[in-house]
Amino acid sequence: MARLYKNESNSVDYFIINLHELTEYNSSEKSVCDECLRKLNNDDQIILIPILNEAYDYKCGIDKVNWLRNIKNISPDEEIQKRRTKFYIQFFKSINSMEI
Ligand SMILES: [Zn+2]
Repeated sequence: MARLYKNESNSVDYFIINLHELTEYNSSEKSVCDECLRKLNNDDQIILIPILNEAYDYKCGIDKVNWLRNIKNISPDEEIQKRRTKFYIQFFKSINSMEI
């Protein structure tokens, strides 16, 4: 199940999803981590960050979430984040995979 998290220090949203959910979205047969380019597999907890519109394996994703913590003000991109987060919530709901 896709689950939405919020970085409390600066309100950056991120989802933790699985490969099935990512594949439903991108229709790709071989998704890779957008940081290290490792091929993702069924055991991966995948971190999807709407404001960057990228998906990472867990290790790279947590590094990215921590890196984003240093950005104190996301206001220029806040609307984009809002729209993308809403889009992903709707998408995961549409495949009955959104945990609320
Ligand atoms: Zn990676």
